[in-house]
This record gives sequence, C-alpha cells and structure tokens, in this order.
Amino acid sequence: MDAVTERTGSAPVTSVGLRVGRLAGVVPDAMRFCFELVTAGTPLEGAALEFEQPDGRGRCRSCGAEFVLADLILLCECGSADVEVLAGRELAVASVVLRS
Ligand SMILES: [Zn+2]
Repeated sequence: MDAVTERTGSAPVTSVGLRVGRLAGVVPDAMRFCFELVTAGTPLEGAALEFEQPDGRGRCRSCGAEFVLADLILLCECGSADVEVLAGRELAVASVVLRS
C-alpha cells in the first residue's frame, strides 16, 4: 500500500494489480480483506485488488531437472526433496489504475 501511494500521491485509485507467486504464501481473499481495512480513508479506499498468480519454478539439486511448482511441496520426480525455488515467491505491484 505504501509502495503505491508513494507514487500516486493523493490521486484516487480504481484498481491495483498484484503479482503474487503461488509460493508466496499469500491467500488472495485474506489479502483483500486486509487491504480494505488498511485503505479505509485513504486514496486507495474502494480500489479493486486484482491478482495475477504465476506458477512457481524449481530446480532439483540432485538431478538438475527444472519443473513447475504448483505448491510448496518441494519434491522432484527423481525422489529428491533437495529442490531450489527459482520463482514463485515474488510479491509485487504489477499495475495501478487511477480514477480519471
Ligand atoms: Zn531430481
């Protein structure tokens, strides 16, 4: 929220797009609820929150395979659990739409 108002100042915001990796541990509904609470009385009040949830990617340190991680179960097909998370933990503001 601070990240947005730092750039948009007091301009009213219609919607905020967030990019939240599937492994970021963020539940969109819970986030939406918090967002409503913390934005009450600010230029962000009433803004819609939109989520983009890219899949995670992991690489097995044992066999070198790269694969999609749909959740935090880090297990390679080869049976190894020594998996490095390459992507999916990001949490970023992807877009902001100002009311005109
Ligand atoms: Zn493997």
